[in-house]
Amino acid sequence: MPFAPLLSHDLAAIAGVAALRNEPLSRHTRFGIGGPASLYVECASEAGFLEALSRVQASGSPHVVIGNGTNLIVADAGYDGVVLRLAEARVEGGEDGAVRASAGALLQDLVDFTIARGLAGLHVMTGIPGSVGAAVYGNAGAYGRSIAAAVEQVRFFDGARVLACSNAECGFGYRESTFKRNKQWIILSVSLRLESGDAGELKARADGILEIRNRKYPPTMKCAGSIFKNLLLADLPPAVQGLVPEKTVIEGKVPSAWFLEQVGAKGMSDGDIRVADYHANLIYNEGSGTAAQLRRIIGELKRRVAERFGFSIEEEVQYIGF
Ligand SMILES: Cc1cc2nc3c(=O)[nH]c(=O)nc-3n(C[C@H](O)[C@H](O)[C@H](O)COP(=O)(O)OP(=O)(O)OC[C@H]3O[C@@H](n4cnc5c(N)ncnc54)[C@H](O)[C@@H]3O)c2cc1C
Repeated sequence: MPFAPLLSHDLAAIAGVAALRNEPLSRHTRFGIGGPASLYVECASEAGFLEALSRVQASGSPHVVIGNGTNLIVADAGYDGVVLRLAEARVEGGEDGAVRASAGALLQDLVDFTIARGLAGLHVMTGIPGSVGAAVYGNAGAYGRSIAAAVEQVRFFDGARVLACSNAECGFGYRESTFKRNKQWIILSVSLRLESGDAGELKARADGILEIRNRKYPPTMKCAGSIFKNLLLADLPPAVQGLVPEKTVIEGKVPSAWFLEQVGAKGMSDGDIRVADYHANLIYNEGSGTAAQLRRIIGELKRRVAERFGFSIEEEVQYIGF
């Protein structure tokens, strides 16, 4: 990006904005993979973020907004453009189970806040890494509950103005939202409403969930959680539906791990990129794995599932720089 030095200077002049040139994105992804961004811009406040974003737009540079990089595969060659991150991390409570959180807040901080206030629903999402903004973007969830169930309103920047949309207008589905389909829309904050519950019971349940999670995904593991989305049984070709054991189906969904296991995914490797030998939908970087190796394994798994079962599995993980 030839004008990176000028833009970098311009952005760094905004209060609370840090602009780093040729910043390795491997430092900002949980996989620990990814080449440099021409410019990496971190903004401490929403106002600074909007100012920075408008200057980046005016410069005509390609740009992308990331959260905490826990669901990202970034190309080994990096990203020839500007990567922005909104780091404002406010979480506030209101009346009658209302909670408001900045997109840059950690989802875990929001979860902990609701548990401490005796608000139920998000407690089952304990241990899902990443930011609130990305959780809304991908409608993150666990244990049969997604963040959509608690969302009342989302404030976002549509590329020109700050707007708000109601839950119904967010187009939520399984790991889906209207924001995934309109990549230039950037989530700024979210208003939620939760039912009341017993703080002690919510905490005990959350602690139990965290223990299970930490066994499945050790906190230092370089991964993105599940690589592929699970599948709705009803969407599968009828011949395939008949092959899936009944006990595998959870709330109408078939874990993609079941299909991956049938095609021999467990334990596969390419360099330092491995498929866990205990979970076919978990791919991790043992140390010096690359995005190219990761993409090769993902491509091979998709090919095997398509060849054996006649349908495509789809990544949950998001790509940058390809
Ligand atoms: C160990 C582990 C376990 C996981 N378990 C779960 C789980 O149980 N359930 C689940 O749903 N997910 C799970 N995930 C996936 C991941 O945590 C979620 O997808 C999370 O919401 C990503 O947050 P992030 O801030 O890291 O986003 P990033 O990885 O930085 O970005 C993800 C996407 O969100 C977009 N984005 C980020 N911020 C914004 C914004 N403000 N506005 C618009 N778009 C934005 C980015 O452009 C990108 O496309 C797991 C991941 C790991 C590593």
